[in-house]
Amino acid sequence: ALVVRRRMLSAGRWARAAEIVAELEEQCATPTTRLLQMAEAMTVEMHAGLASDGGSKLKMLISYVDNLPTGHEKGLFYALDLGGTNFRVLRVQLGGKDGRVVKQEAEEVSIPPQLMVGSSDDLFDFIAAELAKFVASEGEDFHLPAGRQRELGFTFSFPVQQSSIASGTLVKWTKGFSITGTVGEDVVAELTRAMERQGLDMRVVALVNDTIGTLAGGIYYDKDVVAAVILGTGTNAAYIERAHAIPKWHGLLPKSGEMVINMEWGNFRSSHLPMTEYDQALDLDSLNPGEQIFEKLISGMYLGDILRRVLLKLAEEAALFGDVVPPKLKEPFILRTPNMSAMHHDKSSDLRLVGSKLKEILGIQNTTLKTRKLIVNLCDIIAKRGARLAAAGIVGILKKQGRDTLHDGSSKPRTVIAMDGGLFEHYTIFSKCLESTLTELLGEEVAATLFIEHANDGSGIGAALLAASHSQYLEVEES
Ligand code: BGC
Ligand code: MG
Repeated sequence: ALVVRRRMLSAGRWARAAEIVAELEEQCATPTTRLLQMAEAMTVEMHAGLASDGGSKLKMLISYVDNLPTGHEKGLFYALDLGGTNFRVLRVQLGGKDGRVVKQEAEEVSIPPQLMVGSSDDLFDFIAAELAKFVASEGEDFHLPAGRQRELGFTFSFPVQQSSIASGTLVKWTKGFSITGTVGEDVVAELTRAMERQGLDMRVVALVNDTIGTLAGGIYYDKDVVAAVILGTGTNAAYIERAHAIPKWHGLLPKSGEMVINMEWGNFRSSHLPMTEYDQALDLDSLNPGEQIFEKLISGMYLGDILRRVLLKLAEEAALFGDVVPPKLKEPFILRTPNMSAMHHDKSSDLRLVGSKLKEILGIQNTTLKTRKLIVNLCDIIAKRGARLAAAGIVGILKKQGRDTLHDGSSKPRTVIAMDGGLFEHYTIFSKCLESTLTELLGEEVAATLFIEHANDGSGIGAALLAASHSQYLEVEES
């Protein structure tokens, strides 16, 4: 009798588990029509954000980049990239038209977690100190002409309201950052003061978002790049807009007629977005509730934690891991997206890797194959929703640029999107799904003209290139 009762209990649990999974799957559904509506909504919001400041959830920030790299950039320049879990410093010797990138060196440092939630001075002091060390370690083969100040392109991967190419105030922190005293401040001034405290003589000549850096770096190698997308810890996109089509731009019309726009698409929100109870709870518990909703459905900082929340519900309501709810499942962000990706890609027939990840990260022992299969299915639902939403976002940009259809008579244009970020780079199922969704939404013919190019650390090179084209010494040399 006991055995029968156990079996019934277990059948009841599985029924409940199946119900929870089915509900998740339904709420995460992204049928083609819905994605197309979302792409359309993205285009509409882009227009609204370009019309006026505060006109949309999409900030559509003006980058002051109206000239993209040509390949003629020359000299020694530096870049600093701050925005994810790491920050990078880079020096690059640019050889001009024929030389291109002659030599480059980079260093990556992980940001001590306490600095991400500390004070502004502490963060900038740390960065400036690392930068000073980097400069001090410079070899003879990098050449700075006598009497020249070192110049830096500062990639700062947060929303910034710029007032020129080399100044701008922080709108808000995103991702895991929550530092007091920086919002509303000029981040270039903050960095400059910190460099002075370090005795480092260097000038910030370009302040760029990582999307802008990636776009600049991308176009240096491929002139058909029209937009850049970041899928990493956070997510965002930038694209080349006609200056005429930016009503809120009251400055001079640039010679190129173009202006690069940092969309800050992470903050996109629409009734078409598939939101679940897990997303709602994640948002409420986050450092920035109500903000960056699109980002919270898509990017690497959050996917693992969505999965954790679903597993917790399954543990509590369907005893997925036995009678005791594994305590670690209650720890926010304990399950990182790289681990979710590892489980999702487990090719072994008994899903051995899923088992060992559960053990290693969550302290969960002895799962059944059926349970492990269910977990892989959850990864699939969550990752593919994110990838499909990102694809719809890209289609929104292409619509805005008139590149979502082929125009009669004209030869087929190449449309290239420069892509960067760890999520895209390492989560293969995610990137494959993004690409196939683009084809699904655009049709084979248009999709055949679209190329996603992975610009590995393009934003560093891009920032250095933009530093070169905004160098204080440029005009002297050109005349
Ligand atoms: C930030 C963007 C950034 C993106 C990718 C988002 O959280 O708001 O400025 O481009 O992350 O790093
Ligand atoms: Mg980055």
